Amino acid sequence: MPGFEVFGAHERAQVNEVLETGVLMRYGFDGMRQGHFKALAFEQAFAKRMDVAHCQLVSSGTAALSVALASAGIGAGDEVIMPSFTFVASFESIMMLGAVPVLVDIDDTLTLDPKAVLAAITDKTKAVMPVHMCGSMADLDALKEICKAHHLILLEDACQAIGGTYKGVALGAYGDLGCFSFDFVKTITCGEGGAVITNNAAYKVNADQYQDHGHDHIGMDRGAETHPTLGYNFRISELHAAVGLGQLQRFDEILQRQKAHYGTLAAALADVPGVTFRRVPEGGVQNHSFLNIFLPTAEKAQQAQKALSAAGIDACFYWFKNNWHYINGWEHLTQAKSIAPLTPQIQEALKNLSAKDFSQSDYYMGRTLSFLIKLGWDEATLNRRAQVMRDTLMDLGL
Ligand SMILES: *Cc1c(COP(=O)(O)O)cnc(C)c1O
Repeated sequence: MPGFEVFGAHERAQVNEVLETGVLMRYGFDGMRQGHFKALAFEQAFAKRMDVAHCQLVSSGTAALSVALASAGIGAGDEVIMPSFTFVASFESIMMLGAVPVLVDIDDTLTLDPKAVLAAITDKTKAVMPVHMCGSMADLDALKEICKAHHLILLEDACQAIGGTYKGVALGAYGDLGCFSFDFVKTITCGEGGAVITNNAAYKVNADQYQDHGHDHIGMDRGAETHPTLGYNFRISELHAAVGLGQLQRFDEILQRQKAHYGTLAAALADVPGVTFRRVPEGGVQNHSFLNIFLPTAEKAQQAQKALSAAGIDACFYWFKNNWHYINGWEHLTQAKSIAPLTPQIQEALKNLSAKDFSQSDYYMGRTLSFLIKLGWDEATLNRRAQVMRDTLMDLGL
């Protein structure tokens, strides 16, 4: 997954153009900037690559989620349905707005279970936020149907599956809004950064204003601009955007390498007894940032991870016991450990959350191992890794 592995001349050239003018901000200073608008150029190139009408670059993936929700009018007291397996950013971005995260089960796609979503809808529900974890997607058709029937916003968190597709459409472009992260460990990185994509012109205007103090961005004099709405500061800097532009030039090459490496590892495990693969919904193409497998039981998954680690296989994740990606490790959320007061609605929701049964999620997460696909492996390293993974899992007699 990590684009930092291929960091080099492309990124340096883009950053140097910014450093030469000294204009580190994306807006204004037109006389000094010698025509360089790196954030704007990234937005245009990324929208084109994702085949959508609009892209809004922001300061992080978490900010992208908050800005996307806000741009669709979601705020205090509104309920947003999200999965139990995701990065903490999902509930952070919702609670930041005073909105209420409603966590529900995942299924064998390792993403939102449409049945669990349907069961969680109330008259306060405003959005459904599938998270395409570890390179592959939720059942987007089923979720879109639910959203249509209940007049809900479908917001895709595609931070871990950038470049994947569903029925020929880029992940992130299928819902009303899609979000990406360009933090340092993502498939392409800006150092820190994020993006919202949408085909909805009104959401783009809202996002554009919300991420920059409400500025309307009309005219050539920033100080004279009006503020049609309240906003905040989630801007990206020109330096970060420049890094991203360099990475974007490598994007397809990165995806190709991921796919090839994934293919070798998946082929090596294909006929190992007891090993099955995470389900990819029909019509979906992963971005191959992770290889995800199920073991027969949670005990065997833990045993396998230990054995693989002892055999020298790094970057193998057991999310079930991970502090950042599964509800098991989120006692700060379930116990509402907040520095500042939370709204009564959020407090109530977190009380309910701590009592909620996630045995369906446990059933899948307890048995899941995920292997990060690195870009830097040469052929010998990759083949050795495939053989060691296969032999180790075979030896366990699953
Ligand atoms: C990385 C990530 C985010 C947040 O991105 P940041 O840029 O680190 O704020 C959100 N959701 C998922 C699934 C992620 O992996």
